[in-house]
Amino acid sequence: MDGIIDLHAHTTASDGALTPRQLAWEAKKAGLTACAITDHDTVSGVKDFLNSCVEAGVEGVPGVEISVKYSGEMHIVGLYVDYENEEFLNKLYKLEHSREIRNKKMIARCCELGFEITEDEVLACKDPKYDGSIGRPHIAQVFIKRGYAKDKNEAFDKYLKKGKCCYVGRELYTPHDTIAMIKAAGGIAVLAHPIYISRNYDELYKIVSELKSFGLDGVECRYWEYDDEFTEMITELCEQLGLLKSGGSDFHGDTKSETMLGCGRGNLRVPYEYLEKIKAVNRRKL
Ligand code: AMP
Ligand code: ZN
Ligand code: FE
Ligand code: FE
Repeated sequence: MDGIIDLHAHTTASDGALTPRQLAWEAKKAGLTACAITDHDTVSGVKDFLNSCVEAGVEGVPGVEISVKYSGEMHIVGLYVDYENEEFLNKLYKLEHSREIRNKKMIARCCELGFEITEDEVLACKDPKYDGSIGRPHIAQVFIKRGYAKDKNEAFDKYLKKGKCCYVGRELYTPHDTIAMIKAAGGIAVLAHPIYISRNYDELYKIVSELKSFGLDGVECRYWEYDDEFTEMITELCEQLGLLKSGGSDFHGDTKSETMLGCGRGNLRVPYEYLEKIKAVNRRKL
């Protein structure tokens, strides 16, 4: 089978602007053969997404994107996770609980610093239909509404990212435990956007090798923010280590977003062949 796919996209189940149903139809509109839903730390939108994909005639892939404990930002995407697996859902629930505690602390800190922001306002920025994943992106929305920042990037850069005045960290699982929980739920563990970790081949080789020893299955070799040079370098690294290739736009659906579903900034192309190879090793065979 040919065609273009997208294996990294968000919905209102976390911090995306489109509902899972709308994402499925957006995938159809974008001419995608297959699309994955990968919301932050939650699978609450998966079922609606997969049902809508059937209606839209797009191959839907269940997924999740989990933030892990690391000195910088490291995210692991789990494709084909069993989104009804109780043990997996319990582990995600613990992440959710740590988010709630962190959100309260962050809101209190914002108030101490003179920003008028309430928990209710933050909650109102999240689609109540889907559980989980309320976080900094929703706090950023309140900052924009109240005029403290002009957009999400400014809200993060000035106040919300690690090291800035309103930031409070949260409890996360280690990369090892995250990969293990994805695999225990029958999923394929993929390192998301390694470009945010390093641009250096040797450094990435060391990090990805270690993740492979924990059971990592694949790496995002195509991503909206890569240039040709990084795409070539990470593809080579992935092939050297015998890992699967994945990729996507990290679509969030905001109208002012720099990345579009399927095509990223315009030139992203993730071939269906990547998914074929992923499915060939997928133990769960949906
Ligand atoms: P949280 O999980 O609540 O700590 O929020 C993390 C999410 O915020 C990430 O997964 C991104 O979607 C978003 N995010 C993190 N850093 C930035 C940034 N510098 N600019 C914009 N969005 C960001
Ligand atoms: Zn996000
Ligand atoms: Fe991410
Ligand atoms: Fe993402």
